[in-house]
Amino acid sequence: MENNEHRHQVIEAHRSCVVDLRCLRCGQVVPYGEDAYLCPVCGTGTGPSDAGILDVRYDYELAARALFDDGRLRSDRDDIFRYLPLLPVEEPRTDLRAGWTPLVEAPRLAAALGVGSLYLKDETRNPSRALKDRATAVGVNRALAQGRTDICCASAGNAAISLAAFAANAGLRAHAFVPHDASEIRLEWLDALGADVIRSEGDYDQAYDEAEAMRAAGWYSRNCAFNPFLVEGKKTCGLEITEQLDWRVPDVVISPVGDACTLSGIGKGFRDLQRMGRIDRLPRLVGVQAAGEPAMLNLYLEQQGRPPVAEPGDTAAASIDVAHPRNARRLLNELEASDGELLAVEDAEMRSAQSRLARIGGTIAELASASTLAALHHLSERESLAAARVVLVVTGGRTDEPITNDEPNTKGNER
Ligand SMILES: *Cc1c(COP(=O)(O)O)cnc(C)c1O
Ligand SMILES: [Zn+2]
Repeated sequence: MENNEHRHQVIEAHRSCVVDLRCLRCGQVVPYGEDAYLCPVCGTGTGPSDAGILDVRYDYELAARALFDDGRLRSDRDDIFRYLPLLPVEEPRTDLRAGWTPLVEAPRLAAALGVGSLYLKDETRNPSRALKDRATAVGVNRALAQGRTDICCASAGNAAISLAAFAANAGLRAHAFVPHDASEIRLEWLDALGADVIRSEGDYDQAYDEAEAMRAAGWYSRNCAFNPFLVEGKKTCGLEITEQLDWRVPDVVISPVGDACTLSGIGKGFRDLQRMGRIDRLPRLVGVQAAGEPAMLNLYLEQQGRPPVAEPGDTAAASIDVAHPRNARRLLNELEASDGELLAVEDAEMRSAQSRLARIGGTIAELASASTLAALHHLSERESLAAARVVLVVTGGRTDEPITNDEPNTKGNER
């Protein structure tokens, strides 16, 4: 397949194959450089879900040659930099290893739900116990390459804890802008990891603006939606799922949705593989929101000319409690490309799914992550999944409250 000339090129090209960046809002092309952030034309846009977010573009032909040798992946790294040519990092320097988490089969859960085969992508096995580490690893490496000393983010929990962990190990100062109602347990984690915590007087939106202001003052930003490079880290989850399935495409991939970086990133991973000719179709992406905060779902319904779901109330699923999803446009694009959809589940459904994931799947998921199993329940009631290969992305494993078993029929470990 490859001639020698190509092989020669490959050795030299075993590095990032980024070409440039392009605005998802207006199409403006921006050169690949240190300071690429939001689109210079669109800026933050006209509303909180309307920013000119840049998408990193690659030379996929070059990347395919750099990544694969006779169809096999060249790299044997066991972290996200396994896919270095498809990442905006030249030389990884961090020691904590994000990614290459196990894809665990869950036959008992599959049987209980009538699903052909069911896999849990166990992101709780990342250094800080959440998928966020994938984005953090990219951000911290870029910050180190640029000689930065301070790195910040706005977060109600996992993003900040992830940043604190990677910054601690790499010797950067981490600054976490947290909303006024951040959970005490998560603040304790930040404290334990030595982060500088800046508690906003306002909500997550206000904390986000405060972090953005410090970016302007010289701190590196780990705000995943706006910093165009971070979602590239998250896409490795989609790359891994496919590689771990021996390059077979799952039928459905289900992930919780807050700001919309996670699922849109995973979707990009699959599309990268399609562009390189490694797969010939895309999995259906299913995003899950909390019924108590269905902001992204409402944007999706609005795009389809459908009425919004009920007014937001409240949710205990803090990681997806986002009133203004900042990467909405990216996710809408990915849902369209994959024929995907969004749906909402109640907190009570998440709690019962959390208990089932533990009792029948042996996996401790945080509440937001358990939404994926609740959503699968909805899907399986609506359509037959008897022949489907389904992946639930268990995005995080740090529980803020005890897991309660409210299902009388799932006694003990038996059923
Ligand atoms: C951040 C997070 C999500 C949602 O990701 P978004 O990019 O905000 O959509 C889901 N689950 C967990 C555990 C998270 O930390
Ligand atoms: Zn633009």
